[in-house]
This record gives sequence, structure tokens and C-alpha cells, in this order.
Amino acid sequence: KTERIEKLIALQERILSHMPTGLLAVDASMRIGFVNSAAEHLLGIRAEEVSGKLVSEVLSGLLPFFDVTGSVSSHSRLQQVVEVQLGTNKQLLRGDVAMLKEGEAFGALLHGEAVEGCVLLFQDVTKLISLEDKIRQNEKLAAVGQLAAGIAHEIRNPLAGMSASIEMLRSSLPKEVVAGENLKLMDIAIREIDRLNRLITDFLDYVKPQKTAAEKVDVRKQISEVLFSLRTTQKPGVIQSLKGGIPIPASVELKENCPDPVFALASGEKLRQVLWNLIINAMQAMSQSGVVEVGCKNESEQLVKLWVRDQGQGLSEQALAHLYEPFFTTKEKGTGLGLATVYKLVEAFQGEIKVVSKQGEGTLFEVFLPRAGL
Ligand code: ADP
Ligand code: MG
Repeated sequence: KTERIEKLIALQERILSHMPTGLLAVDASMRIGFVNSAAEHLLGIRAEEVSGKLVSEVLSGLLPFFDVTGSVSSHSRLQQVVEVQLGTNKQLLRGDVAMLKEGEAFGALLHGEAVEGCVLLFQDVTKLISLEDKIRQNEKLAAVGQLAAGIAHEIRNPLAGMSASIEMLRSSLPKEVVAGENLKLMDIAIREIDRLNRLITDFLDYVKPQKTAAEKVDVRKQISEVLFSLRTTQKPGVIQSLKGGIPIPASVELKENCPDPVFALASGEKLRQVLWNLIINAMQAMSQSGVVEVGCKNESEQLVKLWVRDQGQGLSEQALAHLYEPFFTTKEKGTGLGLATVYKLVEAFQGEIKVVSKQGEGTLFEVFLPRAGL
């Protein structure tokens, strides 16, 4: 019998010291008894340093778990979360206090004597709680996003009506009226309507759910299509509205570098959107003439790579830090939604985006996408 009891005690000790939950035994006068290794780890203490000392002296942060008067309360408590300051960082502990009655086996946790006291069982829930907060925040954002998308959509129709009305006035009013100051005002109205339209288009692109079934996409074909439409629209006046009124030098050369067939698992439309955003940014980054190179290649068995390289101003520290954040822009008329959208699109296809930039020399955006089988 004695042997069995000894074995049981050994087992109990093994369990207590190996369990991931922190355990701290306290006697009726709030002196610390047994401390398991999880508790040592979670609280950053050593058992031999705190054993026999008062909780209020060495671990006052834990007092809220016990009775406020500092003595062991007679009833068990429900789980509670307490913020504990440990050294420089704050931790959130979730814990339970259980009473130890005289003569109970757990009483042995207190200096080997079967006296009254209690045990505190606790876990570190700092990460869990911040994760819960984040999820709640995301849910809120998703709801706000949906609302904003709905409103953005509704703004479009009246905008179209407004610019059509101004165009009508312009063509039906007598020539003498549509001149000078009046003409300028009409132009301003149309330009501002254009700008709002662009912002709304970019915004809706950004919030649109990006879940699209991936299919086999001919990357070379998408690149040459985008470059073709950019080249043909790059006439004075046309590009003005395309580019959101941000000037690009007239002599930007668009170079294609796709020697081999490349197939990705993505969506053609989304891929064009990615390319479009990256190339427009590249063109806008150049104040003088220069080359924008757009290329693709098979990177490995699993990946394809496409890239857009410019010889523009490069990215500032600040731009590097906030590049993919929605609404981050350094352009007077920018929306800051281009790269945020690119990021979301690439992510939706389990791809990756990398950027290399040198100030004054240029920027290289690389997009990696899963490779489609032949
Ligand atoms: P927007 O073009 O409306 O400003 P983007 O999300 O497309 O928004 O880009 C965000 C910012 O990142 C830009 O305002 C610019 O500062 C920087 N940026 C993006 N692409 C380039 C590039 N190729 N060269 C230099 N800066 C760039
Ligand atoms: Mg942009």
C-alpha cells in the first residue's frame, strides 16, 4: 500500500510539473508553497526564490485572483482574466482558484504539510485575447467595407448623369456662352467627376471579393495585351484620363521580355489588373524618358515569375514601409489603392510579391504565381 501511495505521489508530481497550466499553491496566510515549472516560466520566477514568501511581496500582480482582502476566500471563484505586469511587459492571465481543505492530498503542496490553503491554476491568454480582438476588428471592418462598397456603387450613377448633363450643356448652349470662364468651369466639373469616378473604381476593385477560381493563364499573352492597350492609349489627352491626370513622360518605352511560354494558375482578368497597376506606377515614377521592362519566366517547377522594372525615382523609406496599405499614396492625385489591390489579388492566388528599389535608380516589382501544368 505504501509503495502504491508513493507511486501515486510521484505520478502527481510528474503531472503537476509537466502540465502546461501554471500552478501556484498558497497557504491560508498567503505564503507561497509549491510552484510548478509552467508557473515559473509564465511568471518569469524561480520556485526556490519565491517559496515561503508572501504573494503580496513577490507576486502582488496575482492578488486580484485571490480575495481582495489578501486572505484566502472561502468559496471557489469563477475563471477571471487579470492583467499582470511582469518586468517590462504586461501579460493577461486567465485563472481559477481552488480551495485546499485540511487533510486533502493537495495539502501536501504546501511545505509538505496538510494545511489549508488554495491553488491558483492559470494560463497566459495574452496572445489569445489579442487574436480575439483582431478578429472582432476584422469583422467590423468587413461590415464597414461592405457598406462603403454599396455607397460607392450608388455614387456612380449620379456621377454619370452629371457628366452627361454638362456635355449636353456644352453642345447645346450658344458658342458665346460656352467660352472663357464658363468653359473653364465646365472643364473643372468634368475633371473632378472623372477623378471621383476613378477613386470609386479603384475602391470597388479593392473591396471586391477576390475569390476567383484559378485557371491556366497564358502569362505572355496577358502581358502583350496589356502593353498593346497601353501603347495605343498613350496618346496625349487619352492617357490623361487613364492615368488620373498624373503626367507620364511622353517618351517612356515599354519593353517586353518574355522569351518562353509561361503558364500560371490565376485568372486572366485579375492578372491584367495586376500588370496594369504595376506598369502605370512604373510609368508615373519616371520624370524623364526611360524604359519600363515587363517580363515573365518559369522560375521553378512550381512557380512562375513576372516582373515590372522601371528606371524611375525609386521608393522612399516611408513608401517601402506602407507600400501595400490602402490609401497610402505620395501622389497628389493618387488613390493609394493600386498596390493594395495588387497585393490582395496576388495573395488570392497564393502568390507572392517582392520589391527591390534603389532611390534615384529605379524599382523592380516581382510577382510569383503558382505554375500551371502543361
Ligand atoms: P497611387 O499610384 O494611387 O499613389 P499605389 O498603391 O499604386 O497608389 O502606389 C502607392 C505609392 O507607392 C505611390 O504613391 C508611390 O509613392 C509608390 N510607388 C508605387 N510604385 C512605384 C514605383 N514603381 N516607383 C516609385 N514609387 C512607387
Ligand atoms: Mg498606382
